[in-house]
Amino acid sequence: MRKNIVAGNWKMNTTVQEGVALAKEVNDALAAGKNNCDVVICVPFTHLVPVAGAIDSKVLGLGAENCAQYDKGAYTGEVSASMVASTGAGYVILGHSERRQYYGENNDTLKAKTRLALDNGLTPIFCVGEVLEERENGSYNDVVQSQVEALFDLAAEDFSKIIVAYEPVWAIGTGKTATAEQAQDMHAHIRSVIAGKYGNEIADNTSILYGGSCKPSNARELFAKPDVDGGLIGGAALKADSFMGIVEAFN
Ligand code: PEP
Repeated sequence: MRKNIVAGNWKMNTTVQEGVALAKEVNDALAAGKNNCDVVICVPFTHLVPVAGAIDSKVLGLGAENCAQYDKGAYTGEVSASMVASTGAGYVILGHSERRQYYGENNDTLKAKTRLALDNGLTPIFCVGEVLEERENGSYNDVVQSQVEALFDLAAEDFSKIIVAYEPVWAIGTGKTATAEQAQDMHAHIRSVIAGKYGNEIADNTSILYGGSCKPSNARELFAKPDVDGGLIGGAALKADSFMGIVEAFN
């Protein structure tokens, strides 16, 4: 059966020293308790090596927030999937709405990034989600469906390694959370789209996370929905106590 997962997305926050301290705090809190979900932190590239050295990979997973769409070579400033994997990280966030919006990532770049992530043994946390206008004009199911379908060139075995994160863009960092019902409806839609392509078994085994102003006070209600398998957490992942409050929503 699919896993419950809480993943943090630190974005462009914390210095290396602050990040290592935060990662240790989360790691130690997890090691001290009994948790009913997998927990992952996705951190800036500069933090991957020192954070990998500061945490226990059996307790806390580690990921990057992006990787290059090319394998290697003359791409100044880029960081490849194989470089990310060589730090000890096991995950990579791909297609976050901020990457789509500010860096022009589209289905073609994301297909290439996903292929490279998988080829290098990384688990993609693949983000999809509609903007406010699409929510309001009723096209949100189609928009998200076409974002998920961008991965449908993958063989079933490869698709089964993907974690999907539904992040309505209007809920990211805005304090506006989707209602648990809105999240459930979209997650069920995503699962049915996956089932239509890959069959029920793969769809049932795909973890679909919710992201967008998730916090300790609303996580339990969101995670109680049958198709919501955890969260991708931005702001609330930057403090160990709020992040742990979300992890504990599964207890
Ligand atoms: C995110 O950007 O992935 C996110 C979910 O952010 P926040 O929790 O801050 O809305």
